[in-house]
Amino acid sequence: MTDPANDVAANLAEIKARIDKAAAEAGRPAGAARLIAVSKVQPVEKLESALSAGHRLFGENRVQEAKAKFPGARERYPDIELHLIGPLQTNKVKEAVSLFDVIQTLDRPKLAAALAEEGRKQGRLPRLFVEVNVGAEPQKAGIAPADLAAFLDECRDVHGLTIDGLMCIPPADQEPAPFFALLSDLAQRHGLREVSMGMSGDYELAVRLGASFVRVGTAIFGERIKPGTHA
Ligand SMILES: *Cc1c(COP(=O)(O)O)cnc(C)c1O
Repeated sequence: MTDPANDVAANLAEIKARIDKAAAEAGRPAGAARLIAVSKVQPVEKLESALSAGHRLFGENRVQEAKAKFPGARERYPDIELHLIGPLQTNKVKEAVSLFDVIQTLDRPKLAAALAEEGRKQGRLPRLFVEVNVGAEPQKAGIAPADLAAFLDECRDVHGLTIDGLMCIPPADQEPAPFFALLSDLAQRHGLREVSMGMSGDYELAVRLGASFVRVGTAIFGERIKPGTHA
């Protein structure tokens, strides 16, 4: 029998090595791409295994779930960095602003306005990335590539927000390389440093194409328990 805690530690070490190798092959410096461990829907023991292994950078896609897990973990590990990678409703903005270090899913003007207002109230704001709908999929969140320039202007000029990067989730059924290249190109064109792309199946490709953050869940923690099923 293998110890699942060792699995998480071993998976983290292997994936970090692969990220550094992919970066080196692309002529990027070591540390150019960082690993976000996506802990959504995983049991708390697996989060603890990652923390014990020294990992501190995490992603969650729901405010309520992050709120249940992370304030306690942060008391013991104050250097945790927590990213919101799922959709943000405006009625959760207050909690999200106090809980997260980075919000990666700014995807509409109304949310930009709500974040700006909450930032004034709390006197702080997480770092912000804009989600780009790189595949122009009608059902998917994100700013269309053609609308990005205007949205970035609006964030800055109307709401006084600083945007640090872009994130995307490419179409599930297509080769991701062109979409990764597009996101990198958009970030470069707009002078944005951070590029969040790549998941368990394609993070090395994302690193070769310029990711500064990859978001990996199942390759670290194993399959997620599907909502509605009970072991
Ligand atoms: C769940 C999720 C991931 C991680 O997906 P895996 O395939 O488990 O690596 C990455 N990004 C977002 C936005 C997610 O919701």
